[in-house]
Formats: sequence, structure tokens, C-alpha cells
Amino acid sequence: MTKAKLIDGNAFSAGLRDEITARVHEIRERNHIVPGLAVVLVGEDPASQVYVRNKHKRTVESGMNSYEHKLPVDTTEAELLNLIEGLNDDPAVHGILVQLPLPKHIDSQKVIEAIRPDKDVDGFHPWNVGKLAAGGLGLIPCTPLGSMMLLRDTLGKLSGLKAVVIGRSNIVGKPMAHLLIRESCTVTVAHSRTRDLPGEVRAADIVIAAVGQPEMVRGDWIKPGATVIDVGINRITLPDGKTKLVGDVNFAEAVEVAGAITPVPGGVGPMTIACLLRNTLTACARLHRLDIPEAEPWA
Ligand code: NAP
Repeated sequence: MTKAKLIDGNAFSAGLRDEITARVHEIRERNHIVPGLAVVLVGEDPASQVYVRNKHKRTVESGMNSYEHKLPVDTTEAELLNLIEGLNDDPAVHGILVQLPLPKHIDSQKVIEAIRPDKDVDGFHPWNVGKLAAGGLGLIPCTPLGSMMLLRDTLGKLSGLKAVVIGRSNIVGKPMAHLLIRESCTVTVAHSRTRDLPGEVRAADIVIAAVGQPEMVRGDWIKPGATVIDVGINRITLPDGKTKLVGDVNFAEAVEVAGAITPVPGGVGPMTIACLLRNTLTACARLHRLDIPEAEPWA
């Protein structure tokens, strides 16, 4: 059996970012509008600081305005809600992202629901969740959107294929399942209570692993020729004490069986920020009624 084709998220996301940069310049020249993304970070969680720094860097590279709001860990919920209200009303801000997780004394759901749905570039507001489930033009969560772009690029039409999504989080699993249903896949959503997970995975033409368990999905679970999208990002410690990033799929085993597979790192990861920029551009275009093509032909 030949080894699986590697789905190169680095290359795909670089192409997407180039496309976004070109559109941003076009809008600046033609409409004198600069898309703006506001990112709010509360506290000093090291992983969140890295994510926010990367988002800022990519936003500026694309020609958009980046507004960073770094607040101390003891910021009150009322203060944060007040900031969001200001961003909601600020015409220079087209996208608002509040980096999660928030400190425990702040109700994340209340904060998400305070963001104007048409500026909610994470796609977590119940209005956008509803649009995704019921059909219509909302904003789609970035990681599932990026995963779907890779799938479509790899497989073309997905209609009629059997897909299994392992994980049912609001951030990845559930929106991914909705996107696959929109593509006319037959979708199974598996989770920690699923009785025969290997059996469910073996039946699938498309496997989406979004579990948070390092290398849990084994090679002999995968149907020969299936397409595997590994959303997992897990840092493990090797016997020599060094650390390494791995996905939720045992890559060395799966690459021998699958038809195509995303590596970790370099698969879904870089798509998330590219889709955040895409969502900001989409939000800006909709808010100003600009005529630019939508990224999501299924939306
Ligand atoms: P999460 O909120 O912790 O959800 C994990 C899901 O996996 C839950 O639905 C859980 O089931 C299920 N699960 C856990 N253990 C299982 C098991 N042994 N068998 C079957 N199902 C199991 O995680 P998440 O936020 O969706 O993230 C999932 C992974 O994606 C993580 O590795 C995360 O780091 C990664 N991620 C990557 C990106 C990116 O940019 N590439 C973005 C977001 C997340 P229950 O619901 O029954 O508990």
C-alpha cells in the first residue's frame, strides 16, 4: 500500500493569506476602508499570549488594522463587557475576538453573547451557531472552517461520503458536524461515551479527530484510503525529557493506511488564523456592503 498524501496546511493557509492580503489592498484603494480586528486578552496565560501575538502579526501582515487590548487578570466582568460595548460601536473595528479561556470569575458565555453577531469572527455567538445549524449567512468558527477548506481542496465534492467527527465541543466538533451535513455527508458524531469508537471510525470515508488525547486514533481504526483531518494539538514529553507536538491521531500508523492526512504541526493549525483573517474580511465586507466573493460557497 502506498503512503497517504500529506495535506499541507502551511502551503494552503499561505495561499489563503495572500488572497486575503490582495483583497485588503483592493478595499483600501477602492473603498478607502481598512478592515480592523480587535483581540482582547485578559490575564497572562502563556499559551494565550502566544496565540494573541501570532494573530496580531498575521493581521498586520495582511494589511488590516490590529487592535490589541491586554487587560490585567483582575479585570471585572463589567469592565470587560464595557470594553466590548465600545468595540461593538467602533466603526473601525469589523471583527472582535475575546481570547479564551477567560479567568474563572468571568462568565465566558455572557461575554460571547455581548459581542455583536456580525463582528463575532470566532463564530461562537448563539446567533452564528443558529445560522450554521439552520442555514444562512453567519460567521463560521475558524478551526472547522479551515478543516472544511482542506477537505474540499483534497476531495472536491463531499456529497454522499460517510464522515465521523470525534469530539462534540462547541468550538470544533459540533460546528464541524454541521458543515459536513451542509456538504451532504452522512455524519456520525462520536464522544467519550461512544460504545465502539474504532468501529465507528472504520466505517468512515472522512475522519475528523478533535479529542485532545495524544495519538488516540490508531492506524487499524482507519478505513484504507480514508481522508483524515487531525485537529488535535497535544504537547507530549519524550523519554529524553524533550517535548513534541502530536495530534489526536497516531500519525506513523495512520499514514500507512489513509488516502490523505493532515500532519501535526502543519495541518489544521495554520488554517485557524488564516480563517480568522478571512472572517474579519467577510465581516468588513458585509458591514460595508462591499462586493467581494464569499470564502464559503456553502454558506
Ligand atoms: P474539548 O472541548 O476538550 O472536547 C473534546 C471532545 O473529545 C469532547 O467532546 C469529549 O467527549 C471527546 N473525548 C474526550 N476523550 C475521548 C475519548 N477517549 N474517546 C472519545 N471522545 C473523547 O476539546 P476541543 O476544544 O474540541 O479541542 C480538541 C482538540 O483540538 C484539542 O487537542 C485542541 O488542542 C485542538 N484544537 C486545535 C485547534 C487548532 O487550531 N488546530 C483549535 C481548537 C482546538 P465528551 O463530550 O463526552 O466529554
